[in-house]
Amino acid sequence: MNVPSRIGFVNITDDVARAVTDSGVREGLCLVNPMHITASVFINDDEPGLHKDYERFFEELVPHEPIGQWRHNDTGEDNGDAHIKRQLMGRDVVVAITGGKLDFGTWERIFYGEWDGLRPKRVLIKIIGE
Ligand code: ZN
Repeated sequence: MNVPSRIGFVNITDDVARAVTDSGVREGLCLVNPMHITASVFINDDEPGLHKDYERFFEELVPHEPIGQWRHNDTGEDNGDAHIKRQLMGRDVVVAITGGKLDFGTWERIFYGEWDGLRPKRVLIKIIGE
């Protein structure tokens, strides 16, 4: 991932579905998590208004500025808010694999949630089953 803004949400459903197909697993579980402590993976609707609502909600609850309000930033970093936003949105998702496909509810999609972007980050996909 390389999100070109501090905060952003990326639909990674097709990437995860491709990994499931490539794995050959028909019945099992698929774990997806960021490899970083300032990013989230979550499941919800692929609706741009909702994603704007998320950004406003989390920014009101845990504002980035002023940077000096967060003790984590005493270390010289500026991402104290991003650590807290990640904790609130969550780290990872696990999706059932049924018949070789991600077993979603009708509107469920998998998103990478970036809270401290503008740099490369990685996502782990782990698939188990038979
Ligand atoms: Zn930090």
